[in-house]
Amino acid sequence: MNMELIDCANHGSQPFGVVCGHLQSNGKKLGFHEQEAEEGRKPDAWCNDCHERWQLMKQSEKEREQWEEVCNFKVVCGACYEEIKEENKTANTFDLEVLTIEKLLNQLSKQEYPVILAQSFPSWLPEAYVQMMSNIATQVISIESKLLSMEDAIQVNLDRDKTDEWVFATSIAKDYWTFDIEQNIMYYEQIEEHFVPKKMNIHFNQWLQLCFLLQKLDHVQEKYLITIALQEALQESLYIINPSLVDHFKNII
Ligand SMILES: [Zn+2]
Ligand SMILES: [Zn+2]
Repeated sequence: MNMELIDCANHGSQPFGVVCGHLQSNGKKLGFHEQEAEEGRKPDAWCNDCHERWQLMKQSEKEREQWEEVCNFKVVCGACYEEIKEENKTANTFDLEVLTIEKLLNQLSKQEYPVILAQSFPSWLPEAYVQMMSNIATQVISIESKLLSMEDAIQVNLDRDKTDEWVFATSIAKDYWTFDIEQNIMYYEQIEEHFVPKKMNIHFNQWLQLCFLLQKLDHVQEKYLITIALQEALQESLYIINPSLVDHFKNII
């Protein structure tokens, strides 16, 4: 294959690619859209704005020319191209939006028959939790959170026989979540042989929002590299749920 090379001040002799001027000049989190690869060179790439402009056009030959003019395409070396891609690609792809309570309630699996709640749970449990859980089934929301139906929770807590704490969720591992008698949410994380409790300054609705955010994070991590952009987006979403979460989850990814 006859590959055309260009000379880059930073990377030496390299194959080349073409990116829009926006990506080339300030390139950070602008999105990164690639055309299909062409033999022997990188595919053409452009930012979110250019992408949007292209969608709005009827895409005739003449419009293509106008579009390219605004894109202001620049030739960059293949290594620079990869750097630009890394800095920009996360902006157009991952979804770490915080769900409203209404939306996430729609996503929770319900039990076929609502549980008729006996008095098998302590009176100090948060009202919001007891009400919401009346018809919710046991389900894994994210790696860290398996929400227990009221029936399952009653069983788990009977077995544990601790009167000042209520397990309402476990995880895929051995970690688990409780309410203490003051209605604080506690996270028990297994570290070696011990369970280390962490008090979370959130209420039950925020806990659900957190779990659905972690679920989205699980999906994002399957597909994309962890970049600074991803970490920042996660911090932003945690902050929206409750600013205290930012510290708790500083090192989660
Ligand atoms: Zn652009
Ligand atoms: Zn270069």
